Amino acid sequence: MSRQNQQLDFARVSRASLSMRDQMIAYLQNIIDQAEAQAPYGQNPSLWMPPQALDFWCNNKVQRAVQALPVQRRISWAPGSLRADQIVSGRQSYINALLIYTRGLVSAPCGMRCHTVHSNRPFSQCVRLPGYWDGCCANCKWCDWASYCPVRDAVNSGARQDLPGVQAQIEENAAPNARVIAIEDAPGDTEEDPIDLDPEDGSQENPYELD
Ligand SMILES: [Zn+2]
Ligand SMILES: [Zn+2]
Repeated sequence: MSRQNQQLDFARVSRASLSMRDQMIAYLQNIIDQAEAQAPYGQNPSLWMPPQALDFWCNNKVQRAVQALPVQRRISWAPGSLRADQIVSGRQSYINALLIYTRGLVSAPCGMRCHTVHSNRPFSQCVRLPGYWDGCCANCKWCDWASYCPVRDAVNSGARQDLPGVQAQIEENAAPNARVIAIEDAPGDTEEDPIDLDPEDGSQENPYELD
């Protein structure tokens, strides 16, 4: 009896010793792994990211302004090229790249990190957000190659370009052969059922307390 209790206690201590960061990584990596496992053959995995999913890591005015823009697309990545520990690290280039990819405009491959229409790394498409981070594409931003991305906004152009309306962006973004990739029986299947990357503090999914 006492031995059993000791084992239970040990198990509890082991769980408690997982840091908040490790728990976040495990939670996110599980979502990423599921998406990769369930991607249709020959297609890149994708996930719908709720608008506030990156809120925890958005620390400056520009990031918050971009986060407030409408989400245009699911994140779609080459299998194995996107890891939870990268996102949870909060590295600015990763967070900004995710913001660009979800809010920006699909562009012709920039030629630096993107060479094809649909199979780049980590993100499938070359996407840029004119007026933000010099219009650098998400894949160049991801690895801090921003200054090399050839599709950047003209240097010293001054004023930010106005973004086209949502409908115009959707029309511009829709590739001729585009189709919605549905992940069956998984959270995040639709925009109405997003994956909750930001569960409420203290819930079963999010036992951490943020101050
Ligand atoms: Zn690119
Ligand atoms: Zn680029």
